[in-house]
Formats: sequence, C-alpha cells, structure tokens
Amino acid sequence: MSETLNLERWDVLVVGAGAAGIGAAIAAARNGARVLLVDAGPMVGGELVSGIPVDGCLSSRGEWVVGGVCRDLFAECERLGGYIGPINDYRSLHVVAVDPEIMKVAVVNLLSAAGVALRLYSYADGVVMDGDRLRGVIVVTKGRRVLVEAATVIDASGDGDVAVAAGVPHEIGDAALGELQPVTLMFRMIGVDAERLLRFVRDHPENAGLGEFEGLGLDRRQCAEALYRQGLPKVFLVGDGPLMRDAIARGLLHRSSMMGITPTSLARREVSVNTTRVGHLDATDTARLSSAFADLVRQVWDCAGFLKACVPGFEQAVFSGLAPRIGIRETRRILCDVVLGDDDVALARKRPDGIAKGAHEIDVHLAGTGHHRRPIQGGGSYDIPFGMLLARGIANLMVVGRCMSATRIAHSSARVMGTCLAMGQAAGTAAAMLREDNDPLNDLRALPVDRLRARLAAQGAILEGTA
Ligand SMILES: Cc1cc2nc3c(=O)[nH]c(=O)nc-3n(C[C@H](O)[C@H](O)[C@H](O)COP(=O)(O)OP(=O)(O)OC[C@H]3O[C@@H](n4cnc5c(N)ncnc54)[C@H](O)[C@@H]3O)c2cc1C
Repeated sequence: MSETLNLERWDVLVVGAGAAGIGAAIAAARNGARVLLVDAGPMVGGELVSGIPVDGCLSSRGEWVVGGVCRDLFAECERLGGYIGPINDYRSLHVVAVDPEIMKVAVVNLLSAAGVALRLYSYADGVVMDGDRLRGVIVVTKGRRVLVEAATVIDASGDGDVAVAAGVPHEIGDAALGELQPVTLMFRMIGVDAERLLRFVRDHPENAGLGEFEGLGLDRRQCAEALYRQGLPKVFLVGDGPLMRDAIARGLLHRSSMMGITPTSLARREVSVNTTRVGHLDATDTARLSSAFADLVRQVWDCAGFLKACVPGFEQAVFSGLAPRIGIRETRRILCDVVLGDDDVALARKRPDGIAKGAHEIDVHLAGTGHHRRPIQGGGSYDIPFGMLLARGIANLMVVGRCMSATRIAHSSARVMGTCLAMGQAAGTAAAMLREDNDPLNDLRALPVDRLRARLAAQGAILEGTA
C-alpha cells in the first residue's frame, strides 16, 4: 500500500539534538545552509544536559584539543552564569563542568542565533533511497508523517537509526561476549559541603581514584592534597575502596565500579552523581530499557541515602533532580569508510585527514564492579579522520556521535561529549561546504579534506599542534 507523505526540503537534516547533532546543526547553519534539527524527545542537549561533565576537551596533559562550537557553548554558559570550567580530577582527566540547566538555555541560544530550525517530538523512522543517495528521512510527529528531503543528512541519533534504516552495516557492543556498557540514571544533590568532602578524600585517599596519569608526577596522597587545594567537589569514589565496597557488601548500594561526583552549580552547592547501573541491556530495545527505569530510580534513592548517611559533606545535602532520560553509553557502531581503531586512540595517532581530536582515556564500563580504563599514550590526543564520518555506500549521509564508526575500544574514548561536539562541527561544516559547491550529486567524497580542514581551523577547531 503506498502512503502519501507530507514533504519538506532542507539543505541539511540533522537527526538528534545531543552534543554531536548540536555541533553539526550550528556549524552547518553558520556556514550558510538551511538546517533542520529533529529530536525524538522534548528537550535539546541529549546527554549534554544530564549533569555529567564534558570530557575530551582537554587531554590528560591539560592541553585544549577541542575548540569551535564547543568553546562557544562554554562561553555562552559562562555569560549566563553556568560555567565552572576545566577541573583536574587528579586521576587522569581534565573535565569541563557546567550547569546542565544553564546548558539547556545556552544550546537554545546558539541554535537560534545560527538560524537552525528545531523540531522536537519528532522521530526519524525510516528513509527513502534514490540509488546510493539518501533522498530523505521519514520523520514521525504527532498525527503526521513527513518525508524530509535534504541534500545532506547527518545521523546524530546516538543509535544510528538513519544509517541502519539506510542499510549501512553496523556492529553492536561486544558481539562475541554479548556485552554492552551499562546504562545509568544520573541524579543531583544540592547543599553539598565541598570542603568537608575534599577533606575526607584527602584523609582517606584509598576511597578515590587518584594519580593514574604518570605525567602528573604525584603519588596518591599528593593528588588527594592537590584535589583538596583545588577546592571543587570533583571526586571519583572507587567501587573497590573500603567505603563503597563495604556499602555494597551491606546492601546499601548497588554494585558499581565507581561513583563520579561532579560540581554542577557553585551557587546551589550542587553536584551530579554518576554511579547507578543496569548491565547486559540493549538500549535499542525500548521495552527492556523502560523496564530498567524503576530499578535505576531505586538505585538513585538508595545512593542518595548512602551519601547523606556515610559520606562527609553530604550530611545536609538534599536530592535535587533526576537526569531527563536514562543515559546510554553504547549501542550500535555504524561502519563508515574508516573505522577508528584501538591503536589510533591508545597511541595518540595523528593523520593528515584529521577533522577533530579526541583525548579521553579508553573507558569501558562493565556490568557490576568491572571497569576497563587505560590512559592515552603520553596523555596526548588522536585525530578523527574525515572518512570516519562517511557512511559506507551512501553518497550524502554522515554519522557522528555515539553511533560513530569505531572499534569498541576506540569508541569507549571517542564517545565523550567534547569529541562528539567536534565531530559534529566537522560534519555540519562539510555539509554546508558541499552545498556551496553546487555539486548536483552532492557526493561527500568529492569534498577535498584540505579545504574542510582549512575552514574548520578558521572557525576555531583545533586540528594541529597538540601532543
Ligand atoms: C551515564 C553516562 C555517563 C557519561 N559520562 C560522560 C562524561 O563524564 N563526560 C562525557 O563527555 N561523556 C560522558 N558520557 C558519554 C556521552 O555523554 C555520550 O556518549 C554523548 O553525549 C553522546 O552524544 P550524542 O550526541 O551522540 O548522543 P545523545 O546525547 O544520546 O543524543 C542523541 C539524541 O538523538 C535523539 N534521537 C535518538 N533517536 C532518534 C530518532 N530516531 N529520531 C530523532 N531523534 C532521535 C535523542 O532523543 C537524543 O536527544 C556518558 C554517558 C553516559 C550515558
């Protein structure tokens, strides 16, 4: 049975308004394209507004490796009073902490200023192909099915929904072991006494992840002291430290490798907490994902009680909110022309066709208390090649963000939000440049990478000169 669809035409369609999609949409619009950004949910930002810090912007050495749209978002958060900035966790990371409530406003401001058309509550549900080209994406909204035609489509859906519908091959988790990183529900607490919390870590450093990057040149105790002097409640409690281990054994806490505490607002004395987990779950199975929600909420509530009862600094703290959605670390990895490899990441590989940089450690969360982590060689950064964005066999589709083309190990590093924003910026810029070229075939592979790199560099992206 044939179906009559409503029809719309745009230069660039971006599916998914998380870090990657926002980077793509803003960059494409700033470069002159008419851009539609659709998201299935009621809010912009994806994981960017869940309270987790933005990783991958600075290397373990403390060198900025992401600029452009990402830095503009931070500047807007700062203008609005919601930017805490880079924090050394004295483990191996420099994270960037922001207020997730302010980040929502900052994202909307930047999208509006760039002229991006935003469509929320809009689910990309299929594609219409024209040979090796994507003619358009079928977007389902309340009571309407729309065929959105676009010269270039950017899949930033996290799950690669568009690419899969278009028949692009993909992998999921560790196929051999049937393993996927666990899902997590983030939450926040206000009224936290940072000084007391940091003093506790200084006096009992065995409870925290500290001093993992050799380049710090500090032992565990010195790291705890430096963390204390930094004065910001960025603390990584470890599951095998006595505090968490005992709470897990006594049934006060779910089994987890970690409890990542990050400041979200200095004014509210608020932190976010990253610790809950449900493993062995394919998050593209909506029924199973939804059935994990009650368990995650119970874990949140237990953990808030544990923090108040057992962790110095939280005695007077009050629960202040759940993340807008269950956080998904890993589902599909779409296979593009180039697949980012384990060694590309681990050995900080640079390449001439780099259009973005990653710098986060290898970071595979396992179910329960397992966690596979490994710093990048020398605390440096690696390049994301342009071919990693080009969906195999399709002329005008790019894939960015969590559903990127990478091995599982490489993905565990490049999935973080600084890298997703940078990847998105590159894709959006490429899409807009192709439109300028008036190529009737709109073949992304015809775009010279040198020109793209020059444009990205001129617009603040960091592509050269990092360790
Ligand atoms: C618990 C947790 C902790 C993490 N910790 C950190 C951290 O500390 N620092 C860090 O930088 N990163 C962290 N990460 C990783 C990082 O947050 C994500 O990998 C990254 O945000 C992914 O960005 P994205 O834009 O690809 O996807 P998302 O942010 O997931 O956005 C995808 C968007 O696409 C929309 N969408 C999905 N399907 C469709 C469809 N079919 N049609 C329309 N819209 C659709 C969704 O509604 C969503 O808004 C963490 C992740 C989790 C889950």
